[in-house]
Amino acid sequence: MRITVVDGDITEQDVDAIVNAANSSLLGGGGVDGAIHRAAGPELLQHCRTLRAHHWPEGLPPGRAASTPAAQLPADWVIHTVGPNRHAGETDPSVLASCFRESLLEALRLGATSVAFPGIGAGVYGWEADDVAQAARLALTEVPGRWDALEEVRFVLFSATVADAFREHLSDLFA
Ligand code: ADP
Repeated sequence: MRITVVDGDITEQDVDAIVNAANSSLLGGGGVDGAIHRAAGPELLQHCRTLRAHHWPEGLPPGRAASTPAAQLPADWVIHTVGPNRHAGETDPSVLASCFRESLLEALRLGATSVAFPGIGAGVYGWEADDVAQAARLALTEVPGRWDALEEVRFVLFSATVADAFREHLSDLFA
């Protein structure tokens, strides 16, 4: 399994699955969520409405992940996960690690072999770049061999601060 960190826009990634830093409603929002919905087109919102109605009528809780088809995006799937919102008192970093872990498990369940992540929680939800990188690292490393069926896990980071933190905390995992 290859771990890569790139500067860029997650909506442009040609991977099997991209991860969305969604909110509990699953019905779109700002930041990377808004960018993904704009690039994917209105069909993604329809998929999200169906996902919510059938599986998460109360909304997707922080730390969980669920997937939909990716509509017009180059990817096949969007895995939606909800970061803990520090500004709402959700300050447990294990919930942030759970976002990465549950998204990777969902990728395996889908049969995806390449998956791209944004810096979940590093925007409006108020986490430090170092905390996000450490949460990603924990999810990747806590169970050796767990992600062997994945060929590539790519972190696609929009902000230089977040990209630098991921390079610092994950560089020893790079192939
Ligand atoms: P959260 O609410 O989980 O904090 P945000 O969407 O506010 O989510 O921000 C998460 C991270 O995604 C931020 O570092 C932000 O810069 C980044 N981001 C925003 N747009 C994109 C994009 N198109 N591709 C990749 N990352 C993005």
